[in-house]
Parts: sequence; structure tokens; C-alpha cells
Amino acid sequence: MTLDLVVKGGTVVTAGTQADCDVGVAGETVVVLGRDLRGWREIDARGRYVLPGGVDVHVHLSPPVEPKPGVEVWCDDFYSGTLAALAGGVTTVGNMTFQREGETLRGALERDLAAARRDAVADYILHPVLMHPTDAALAEIPALAAEGHTSLKIFMVLDGFDGQVDAYLDAMRAAGRAGMLTLVHCEDGAVVRCACRELLAQARTATRWYPETRPVVSEAVAVERAIAFGEATGAPIYVVHLSSAEALERCRRARAAGRAVYVETRPLYLYLTRERFDEPDGAKYTGAPPLREHTDVQAIWHGLRAGEVQSVCSDHAPWTLAQKLDPALTATTTRQGVADLETLMPMLFSEGVVRGRISLARFVELTTTNVARLFGLYPTKGTIAVGSDADLVVWDPQARWTVRGASMHSRAGYSVYEGWEVQGRPVVTISRGQVVMEGGAVTAARGRGRWVRRGPTERL
Ligand SMILES: [Zn+2]
Repeated sequence: MTLDLVVKGGTVVTAGTQADCDVGVAGETVVVLGRDLRGWREIDARGRYVLPGGVDVHVHLSPPVEPKPGVEVWCDDFYSGTLAALAGGVTTVGNMTFQREGETLRGALERDLAAARRDAVADYILHPVLMHPTDAALAEIPALAAEGHTSLKIFMVLDGFDGQVDAYLDAMRAAGRAGMLTLVHCEDGAVVRCACRELLAQARTATRWYPETRPVVSEAVAVERAIAFGEATGAPIYVVHLSSAEALERCRRARAAGRAVYVETRPLYLYLTRERFDEPDGAKYTGAPPLREHTDVQAIWHGLRAGEVQSVCSDHAPWTLAQKLDPALTATTTRQGVADLETLMPMLFSEGVVRGRISLARFVELTTTNVARLFGLYPTKGTIAVGSDADLVVWDPQARWTVRGASMHSRAGYSVYEGWEVQGRPVVTISRGQVVMEGGAVTAARGRGRWVRRGPTERL
């Protein structure tokens, strides 16, 4: 039998196995793993790894508010963002879909589904962000889960969070019962606002003081509370972009006690520390939480190695350098988020696997398998097995290259890792059996990406 596509002679790596074999694809699906397979199209992967396509469940490719003149929003959409994804070996993205003023959760999802259907070149899932926890919004939760939207995002840092905390707890309970995972942005709004008032009183308003507005304690106390909320409501929780040793220790204890608490970190906290804010253009590093100390970086790497951190996702929330360095911005208004989709996997491979901090199997777990399981995508996504979607990345572990934001696909046009020397990169990306990137050139047609219906969250 001649297959549609065969990836030949590579080392096929999944979270649990590593074997030299061919991967045979028919249509959109992996149908056979073996030797001497024949295909209409054959890709030579000798000397290379064949990895499951990356699953980055934390990206921002749609604006949280209605775009209008005078309102600055993230500079990528589903098109440019998913081009960056495929170039970086990520074949599935999870977008934060904000419920806007007067909008239902379903209305928000339908708005972004329409945009993604038109523009996305990679596959996608959407996380409804509960901004207005009204009775009507809470009542939507079970049906959304039943339709395959099995996650819900909440922001503890919002000004309105504490005033509506009862409703947020009810939402978590409903989400947990429906098989959803609750994603929690863990920073305490009151602590952050208190720190901001103090900085203003001291006239420390320049963006270089940004880290002072969001101290570690604001994250640690929010994580502690989110864990308690999970326990009280029976809801599994996923702590997004964890940044500090203290917050990680709280999660580690909760997990050791058997709680369904999962930890995501993002690249910023693995490679950069807070001194960056003393650079003249330090505002370009702004993310929430801010960059932390070297000891925090060490703790998170240890957490990746030890299995205390389950995922590394980009939190791709891109701005151009001009937007980031706008001189009108202050420590409390500086724009949060950076472009990181295209660098997510290569940087983690280079700094993690090549430098011996994490194993190749852990790299696959952190970037694909764990996330696919937590978000109800496994085993359609997140592994290479007979019956799985043929989302494959042919990875050259020797390639050496230098990060240049201007030559990447995000409209941000810069990278916070500008000039970093990296070893390892995807050379071919295959999405559902289709070659969509080769040698850095993304060839996918606009709108080819597909929404993925999800099952319930799986416990890790
Ligand atoms: Zn985010």
C-alpha cells in the first residue's frame, strides 16, 4: 500500500517512547509506524527527531475589547499568530477569548470562531474568559462544555474580582462538574493596587518600576487562594504563567496533598530576570507577573525537571516595539505581554534539552502531551500514534541560528531574546497530514486551521 505521506528514518519521540522508524500518514491521520514504508510523498528525517506538533494553549490572537481608534490592542490576529505557531513547530493553539461588555460567553466564542475560521492556519481551541460572572453567564457553562469547550479562564487580578467572588466560585464549581479545567490568572488585585498606590506616592512612575507593582506576595497569596477555591468547589485548576519559587512551592504542596492543581510557566520566567527593567528599553520585557529573581528562575527549572510544572506555554500577547516603548506609558500602564509563539519550542529545546536541564521526553511532555491531556485533546493531539492526527514536527537538533524578531512571523517585529544563539529548530511542520512549513517558509493557506472539539479535562 502506498501512503499519502511518509516521514522516513527519523527518531520518533513521544512522552514515553523513542524509536527509529517511519511514520505513515493517510489523509489527516497517522496510520502506521514501521520500516520501509512507501508514500506518494516522502520526507527524509534521518538524523532528526520527529516530534508531536506543539500544543500551546495560552495565546492572545483576538483583542479583549472592541478595537476602535485610540485603543491599542495586541498586534497579531489568528492569521499572523498561527503563522508564527507553525514556523515554531506549534500545530495547535489555545486562544483566550474575552467576554466583552454585554456579551454572552457563547457570543464571545462565536465571534472568535468566525475570525479563526477565516484566518487561522493552525488548529485551535478557545478558552472563554469569564469577565462578567452574571447568573446568565454561569448558566451557559454546562452547554459550552458539552459542545467541546472544556475550559474556563478567570482573572483574580481584576478590580471586580473580590466584589463578585461568590459568583466566580459558583462558576468554578459549575466548570468542574462539567469536566472543564479552570485556568486562573493568580495575582491578588488588592495587593497589586496597594503596591501601585505606594509607588505613585513615591513618584516612582517610570516603567522601570513595573516589577514593584506586582510583588511575589501578590502571586503567592493568589495561588494559595486559587488552590483553596479549587478544593472548596471540587474544580481542577490550572495556574497560568507561574513566575515565582514561592508560588510554585504552594502548588507543589497542594499537588503532594492530592489536589488537582496544574502549573504552567512561560518562557520569560525561564530565561530572563528583573534586572532587565533597568535597561533603557526595559519596558519591552513587561508581562504579568513581572520578571523575577535568579532564584525563581532556578526553582522553575527544577520544577520542570521534577514534574512540578506541567506545561510551558508562550502567553503570546504581542505588541510592536513602538507600542511597548510608548513614552506615555508608566509603571502602572505599561503594556503587558510579548511575542513568544515562534520561539517557544526552539528556546526550550536549546536552553533545556541541549544544556541538559530537561530530557527530550520531558520536553515533549511539557510542550505537547501534558497540555493535550489537560485540555481534553489527547490522543488526537499530543502524541504520535496510530489514529492520532498527523501533527508532526521534523526537528533538526543540530541547527544553530540566531533569534531575529524582524525575520519572524509575528507582527511584533522584535523578540525579547534578540540575538540569542539557539541550537535546534523545526525544519518541517506537518498539520493533519499536510506539510505547512518547510525550511522556515510557511505555506499554509489562510483559513485551513480547524477548531478542535474537546473532551473533558484529564487528570495528570
Ligand atoms: Zn495570557
